[in-house]
Amino acid sequence: AKDQFLANMSHELRTPITSIRGYAETLAENFELPPDAARFSRTIARSASRLGAIIDDLLLLSSLEDPSARGDIASTPVRIAGIVAEAVEQVTPAATEKRLAIDVAVDPSLWVLGSAGLLAHAVANLVSNAAKYGPADSRIAVTAAAEGGYAVISITDHGPGIPEIHRERLFERFYRVDRARSRDSGGTGLGLAIVKHLVEGHGGRVWAESTLGAGTTIQIQWPATPS
Ligand code: ADP
Repeated sequence: AKDQFLANMSHELRTPITSIRGYAETLAENFELPPDAARFSRTIARSASRLGAIIDDLLLLSSLEDPSARGDIASTPVRIAGIVAEAVEQVTPAATEKRLAIDVAVDPSLWVLGSAGLLAHAVANLVSNAAKYGPADSRIAVTAAAEGGYAVISITDHGPGIPEIHRERLFERFYRVDRARSRDSGGTGLGLAIVKHLVEGHGGRVWAESTLGAGTTIQIQWPATPS
């Protein structure tokens, strides 16, 4: 009943949000507005878009938290190189805008069991955070290698880093280290909670390593399957 309610609610909310966003964009782009009014319209459009993203994330998170739905995670052999390529492609437009270089080094023989779509969503989320929090003109590294029966994927940026006291709680819903920065970057505060659910639902583990002022590495570890 809860899932049905959430699905209905998100559908009902999405329609007016799309309308608010569409009209606000039209106002800003197609009318001769005083500068303040144009800026306000763009802010309305951006906020509506964030609200839509939060609703999508809440719905996904709620379906992942449902233990009966977890059993539905499709398990087929998935090649890590394909997942990483898809994730990097999704983030490329945002990375290009900040002139970020993404270096990829992936062992092509790595396979895991799981859902290709959900695994790509998790990796894309981490690469997208690296692009959000990494400074313009810097590099992001994405690596994947076999380590003792596991496939380990690492995503490294050269952003501000994450203070140690926050690292445990990062993966909680709506937990933010720096509220203002997260808002500026259009984050929902749900990305890492979703990543954790996706990874653990696949029998894996995710954690953060970071040096303040130098950058962050997020690592995912999945049981590897023989290729
Ligand atoms: P958001 O949508 O706000 O980015 P996430 O769940 O993805 O939410 O991340 C939670 C918080 O963790 C972020 O608000 C940010 O403070 C911090 N964070 C996540 N990834 C990084 C990173 N690569 N570098 C620095 N801080 C990060």
